[in-house]
Amino acid sequence: MRAPFEPNRFGERGMHDFTPDAERQRPGCGAETEPHGPQSELADIVARPDGGKAIGVGETDTCARCGTFLRGEADGLRVDGVLYCTACGVRPDVDYLEAYRASLWGKRDGWVWFIGLTALYSLLQALVVAASSRLLVGSGLDGIPSETIWRFVGRGAVELATCAVAVAYFLGRPWARLGFVGVFAMQVSSTFVTSPPGMRGFVLVASVLSLPVLLFIVNGTRQRLFFKLEVSRAKLKASWEVYANNPMARQGLMLALLSLAVPPLGPLALGMSIVGLRRVDPAARPPIGRKRQAIAGMVFSSLSSAVSAGWLALKLFK
Ligand SMILES: [Zn+2]
Repeated sequence: MRAPFEPNRFGERGMHDFTPDAERQRPGCGAETEPHGPQSELADIVARPDGGKAIGVGETDTCARCGTFLRGEADGLRVDGVLYCTACGVRPDVDYLEAYRASLWGKRDGWVWFIGLTALYSLLQALVVAASSRLLVGSGLDGIPSETIWRFVGRGAVELATCAVAVAYFLGRPWARLGFVGVFAMQVSSTFVTSPPGMRGFVLVASVLSLPVLLFIVNGTRQRLFFKLEVSRAKLKASWEVYANNPMARQGLMLALLSLAVPPLGPLALGMSIVGLRRVDPAARPPIGRKRQAIAGMVFSSLSSAVSAGWLALKLFK
């Protein structure tokens, strides 16, 4: 399946290029309906219950983007309360939350890769358990208490189960979300049982504290989208705000804060913050924000850049 905003479907403009220019404001976007893709797919989006609402009976208006006159219910499409013609309403820059959803549908994020890597780690653990139990059995089973043998079997089984669930998670099997919480509980019980009594309280507290984090991760918007589960428009918007709203300004600020500890990063953070600030355009669709973060990034990175420059000057002219 093709991504919804590949250049060949929407001309040369990607979803992140929303500079208002005369060309795009000109009426008559009807000519652009063709590259939108198969009619059935278009109809699906138009019929989507959450995002678009048909205009009311007797209501007449014009498309907010191209100015096309809209005559009836089937003529228009409302996106976040604003009325568009059906051609404009399904554009990735207009219905940017839908485009965001589509871009993450079935896509692995950092957490999925991390959980995928725990499969390798668990497999390694299972091999270690197998190797050490082989050493143990090699010297004869007679002297070994049955409790020790069951401990090895249990540990190996938990690691193999973790590996299997993590692989399923990585492959996007829907049950694996719950399954991963299950193997977490198994890991905790196994660690609890095998810990010395003095450590058990610590294991219990650590587990109780990490369970909400785990639930937060597997319930995250991007995880749900990876597993192809529906996500409310409000959740999409919240996730879009974090990851897609002027990421340059966000990363610039984070780098600027880091540069307070590592001053040579200052100039790079300053450059990113300036680019981030230049991109701010609350009137664009989608709106580009984070003005304050960009300015804060410029302030902090200027400080660390000044420190770097001073240090360099001292080195050169000493
Ligand atoms: Zn239009």
